[in-house]
Amino acid sequence: MANRFTGLLIVAAMMLACAGSAYAETEFAKSAQSEALIKHHQLAASFNPAEHTISATDTITLKPGAKRTLRFALGKDVKVDSLKDDHGKDLAFKPAEDEDLPEHLALYEAEVPKTAVGLTIAYGGVIYDPPQEEATLAHVRGGTTSGVISEEGIYLDAGSGWYPVEDGALPTFSFTLSVPEPIALVTQGDLVSREAKDGTDVSVWRSRVPQDGFTLAGNKFVVKTRRAEGVTLSTYLFAEDAALADKFLDATEKYLRFYTGILGDFPYNRFDIVENFFQTGYGMPGYTLLGDAVVKMVRGGGYDVTEPSGVAHELMHNWWGNYVFFDADQGNWCEAITTYMANYYWLESHGQDEEARQWRKHASVKFSVNAPPDQAYPLREFRGKETEADGVVGYEKGAMFFHHLRRLIGDKAFFAGLRQVIAEHGAGFATWDDFRRAFEQQAGTDLGEMFTQWLDRSGVPDFRVDMETMQETPPSYIARLVQQEPYWNLLLDFRATDEKGATNAEGHVAMSLGEAWVTVGSEKADNDGKKAADGVFSLDPEWNTMRRVPAVALEPCLNAVLNEEGAVVVYPSGADEMSTELLKLVDVIESAGRGLTLLPDSQFTAEVAEGHSLFILGGSGVNRAWDQLGGLIPAGTLTTNEKSFSFQRRVFMSPEDSILATFVNPQRPGQFISVYHGNSPAALARSRYIFFYGWDSYLLFNAGRLTERGMFPPAANPWAGRIPAG
Ligand SMILES: [Zn+2]
Repeated sequence: MANRFTGLLIVAAMMLACAGSAYAETEFAKSAQSEALIKHHQLAASFNPAEHTISATDTITLKPGAKRTLRFALGKDVKVDSLKDDHGKDLAFKPAEDEDLPEHLALYEAEVPKTAVGLTIAYGGVIYDPPQEEATLAHVRGGTTSGVISEEGIYLDAGSGWYPVEDGALPTFSFTLSVPEPIALVTQGDLVSREAKDGTDVSVWRSRVPQDGFTLAGNKFVVKTRRAEGVTLSTYLFAEDAALADKFLDATEKYLRFYTGILGDFPYNRFDIVENFFQTGYGMPGYTLLGDAVVKMVRGGGYDVTEPSGVAHELMHNWWGNYVFFDADQGNWCEAITTYMANYYWLESHGQDEEARQWRKHASVKFSVNAPPDQAYPLREFRGKETEADGVVGYEKGAMFFHHLRRLIGDKAFFAGLRQVIAEHGAGFATWDDFRRAFEQQAGTDLGEMFTQWLDRSGVPDFRVDMETMQETPPSYIARLVQQEPYWNLLLDFRATDEKGATNAEGHVAMSLGEAWVTVGSEKADNDGKKAADGVFSLDPEWNTMRRVPAVALEPCLNAVLNEEGAVVVYPSGADEMSTELLKLVDVIESAGRGLTLLPDSQFTAEVAEGHSLFILGGSGVNRAWDQLGGLIPAGTLTTNEKSFSFQRRVFMSPEDSILATFVNPQRPGQFISVYHGNSPAALARSRYIFFYGWDSYLLFNAGRLTERGMFPPAANPWAGRIPAG
């Protein structure tokens, strides 16, 4: 492992509230190494939020083995009061060093007698690192804390050192946790009991499934519970959000019923939705911890976390990642299958055909924008999401890998393969090869080549219809398909439609080299004795095959601009209130550290912008670049004045109105012009949230609230060719 404490650290990089896009969370990398000594924790802990303290006794069961030096970490302000073996005899321990150890932890070392099968550590002290909220471009980075016990809330993960943490251990546990009411605690595994004793909330938790880290959360919650499929579902919400409980429970129950039908029993006896006092989107065994901002958004006006990409995704992790573990060093398959089954397959299996098609298409688009060829490393090398490129490799390409596999072997073998992995590897580790073997057994076919192509190759296929060579030899038409190197083995759908959009012909064509031909007849027209009218030949119109989408084929969107190396952001150089407001965006863009050029409008010339996409902050009268460029935008689309704008022939005059729109640069298809305009400084007050909407062509806001969104067509469609009239 690169960092021995990987498993202990929370990397709080997540996407929250990205409307319509993936909702991601931190995953704990699991390590299969088995040198660790700790086998089981039986821990009793009580917490005092007012004083930020924990006081605990941990009775540890040890694995038999040659190694008898136990190294464990605790919070640096937590003191070990005593360390005894299972005969009650004091054991010596001393501080230890490790350069990988985070600053807020202290490491100890104890020699354990060969005869000892257990030991007891009594400890206590302060853990108090109030969460810091971080924000970056295009996503809200979650709150970060190394652990906090406070009256605002309690959040302790393995990295906080709230229990003796041994690197590489994969123990089971039994916890008895106490905290003064009205605070209640939630942790992972199964809930055994909860009761109130003399003003103290006492909860007992247990897991027979080994786990590599324990996270607990505490707050003043309103709890609502129901039973479904033998599982207790609960919401732990703040009082002001308690009315959302049924919406969360309805969604959770719906997902649980559907997915247990496919995958079998849920691995834990409960699943809870727990609200957090800072922004997180973590999935733990038996619960998910959601920041209050994303919970409140369920009321409307933004991303709805009860959608499949939110709650279903977290629920799905209880099979993948929280029951069948992965060793990051051998490849993280966990986000791929979780995303495929929750975010995508829900849509396809519930008659949401167009949403499912859009999801597949967006996977290709997002991959192409966020992972340029030099960053599109092989799926098998995905460890976890740190960058946007990581995200599209591990989530989007990973999910589409499973889509290709499912189409290849069929639903029956595919789902039986997933159940086989759960049966064989539940409560243990699985690798990509374990998945391959299970699918091969279920499908009765060798999948080696298929896995190698999709897991070990970088990038995605790059194919198109060569429109220049669509040939007419009535009554048939020949479409030439081309593929860029390296050649993939593909089975591509095609469809030929007539001028009214009705399907004349469809089928699929195998392609494993640089070109292939498809002959499409127009028998229908001939039989009628009439000439066929113009039609369209479409290659994989349903987007079942993942592909690289060139810039000319992108629907215009801000992300296409922000991800283009050398794109130019032009900001107003005035000192007025509007310009000041827009300048705040420059700070946000700058802090994201992308390869963008930032330029005041006073220095803007057509030459400066030559060859690049543009993001213009401010419309007419505010940004001189827009005064020069606005004329390029197709008539009737967008015109801006200082206090109003007109979009698609509608006039927006409210001082609260604003618009973010991206257009194809008509002089240079493949490049884009984005503009952000508001009718007053107040209209731009929530401007930093525009980055959540980076995939839309246009967005209208009123007082910072999204009121309308939509797409403009791309400059070109490389997967369609005109079939000329016969
Ligand atoms: Zn996930």
